Amino acid sequence: MRRTKIVATLGPASLHRDTIAAMIRAGMDVARLNTSHGTLEGHAHAAALVREVAAEEGRHVAVLMDLAGPKLRTGETEFTRTLELVPGHEIRLVNYPVAGTESLLTVEYSRLTEDVQVGERVLLDDGHIELEVVRSSPEGVDCRVVAGGSLGPRKGVSFPGTNLTTPALTDKDRAAIRVGVEASVDYFGLSFVRDADDVVRTREFIDSLGYDTPIIAKIERRQAVEHLDEILAEADGAMVARGDLGVELPPEDVPVQQRLIIASAGRNMIPVITATQMLESMIDAPRPTRAEASDVANAVWDLSDALMLSGETAIGRYPVASVAMMDRIIVRAEESISESDGIGMAAPETDDHSYVVALAARSIVESDLNMRGIACFTKSGYTALLLSKVHPNAPVFGISPSESVCRRLALARGVTPILSQTATSSEDLLHVVDSSLLGGRYIVEGDEVVVVASLPVRAQGTTNFLKLHRVGDAAEYEW
Ligand code: PGA
Ligand code: MN
Repeated sequence: MRRTKIVATLGPASLHRDTIAAMIRAGMDVARLNTSHGTLEGHAHAAALVREVAAEEGRHVAVLMDLAGPKLRTGETEFTRTLELVPGHEIRLVNYPVAGTESLLTVEYSRLTEDVQVGERVLLDDGHIELEVVRSSPEGVDCRVVAGGSLGPRKGVSFPGTNLTTPALTDKDRAAIRVGVEASVDYFGLSFVRDADDVVRTREFIDSLGYDTPIIAKIERRQAVEHLDEILAEADGAMVARGDLGVELPPEDVPVQQRLIIASAGRNMIPVITATQMLESMIDAPRPTRAEASDVANAVWDLSDALMLSGETAIGRYPVASVAMMDRIIVRAEESISESDGIGMAAPETDDHSYVVALAARSIVESDLNMRGIACFTKSGYTALLLSKVHPNAPVFGISPSESVCRRLALARGVTPILSQTATSSEDLLHVVDSSLLGGRYIVEGDEVVVVASLPVRAQGTTNFLKLHRVGDAAEYEW
């Protein structure tokens, strides 16, 4: 049973019923829709298609709608030609449309002249070209070319040292959220988050529409790195967005940040996705490089909840093979270590009942009592997420009467979501657990599991119940 989950981006290479079905069979747990590309109607259709195919395959597959966010771009170039920027030359950046030349170029950021300061760096086209600001006036920002190169029209721009004042949530993202909640997507990805406030505002907007869709904060800006803990305290999930992060930070900082972001997500008890270029060469080739295989394995050992495929499945030649390859590398990496290696057994200082129960469940399941796993009955999914975060060296069965909770749990490391009936009483809860485990053939009758739940079942309380349970015994109980 694979613990680390697979997120795969859908795109022209994979948006077909048969391909989606094959990707689910190969191991896709979460389908990502990238609103930087395609139309909102197209994404709504894709979300419905994933739902339909997942139901046919009998699997809980979450849909993650990734919001484009305020990705800044340069403007058009004159005659859409490629500009040649030469080191030492000066170029003026302006925030109004011009036909770009080697000396005058639009950057689509309204507060350009207010926010960008002398001495700061400007990176064009994923960092291939570097400028330094030498003068700033209301007319524009004058820069000296530090690292030159060729620049086509409408390329990405980033300001690694600047405190940009644009919120992460754009009008285009609001339109996407409206479509996303209607299509009942399971997660939103928030791009270019700067601080906790970006997450709060997005949550307020989703809430104003009457939904509670969880938000995954994509950590891809220097500003976000500086506010990491406060952002992840507010968010429901995190993404190590190595593509854009690697533009704003030097390459040697990206692996370090990957560990720091995963650790912070652990402390905040939220799932974390490691993303971008994981099997990049499989866009064109049927096999990955050795370095990519190692990267996937290391992200597993770093304790990512999920690993993400982008271009590999969206526009690549081998979308299904990429998922299958990722599955193989993950399974092999997981076999080679014990899940709780590297996790301290000492309980951190916490007065959270649920967390302490989760730690107890882990100790029991890892003792010599020969327990097969932890079965948690969860209405909101919270207990299952906690159990995932204490990394027990045994499967966690997230049993929930809510389909939406089961789909959300598809992202959590080590959790097998199982849709169940509602438990009507404390006695009934054990029947529900037994029939869920036996019905899905996850456990055979007579095997023992640790059952974790919140009683009474009708209340919405903390996790306060733990039982060492022989599966099948509930049928004989008379309470
Ligand atoms: P993107 O985000 O693919 O939406 O840019 C991920 C990343 O930047 O790594
Ligand atoms: Mn990005």
